[in-house]
Amino acid sequence: MAKCHYCSKEVNVPKKRFCNEKCHLLNCTEVKEKGCWDYKGFKGKDGYGQIKIGGKVRRPHRISYQIYKGKIDEGFNVCHSCDNPICVNPEHLWLGTPKDNMDDMLRKGRKADKKGELHHLNKLKEEDIYKIRKLLKKKNYKQKQIAKMFGVDPSCICYINAGKRWSHI
Ligand SMILES: [Zn+2]
Ligand SMILES: [Zn+2]
Repeated sequence: MAKCHYCSKEVNVPKKRFCNEKCHLLNCTEVKEKGCWDYKGFKGKDGYGQIKIGGKVRRPHRISYQIYKGKIDEGFNVCHSCDNPICVNPEHLWLGTPKDNMDDMLRKGRKADKKGELHHLNKLKEEDIYKIRKLLKKKNYKQKQIAKMFGVDPSCICYINAGKRWSHI
């Protein structure tokens, strides 16, 4: 009888090393002083971790969000309040505004949006996005601090950090 590599519970499925996704994730995780749970497995070029679950390569922080907090609706980004891309501590994860909506807002030319936090994006000019990218690269500031500097919601910064479609700016 095979045993789960993490919790030693018996696993009846052949070739399965863990009893569930949670054990798989925790087995590849190290708790850091700041409270971050660093993913110790493979890290991609983009700085995010990669975990193979069910034959598919997935993002560990998204898996963690799904295990501890629930479903991620389509298009939503899982963002880090600790700005540590390999952290999978669910307490450090929050859902960012859907990318597609953000893209849409930009395309439409920053019209006022009354639905909520998206209107924050309207305040940003292209040069602001350029500046934000620079600040993100330097890593001297947390995303929350940058959001404050520009008077926008942290989800915007998270989006700019993750958004690949703005690379022309
Ligand atoms: Zn287990
Ligand atoms: Zn963290």
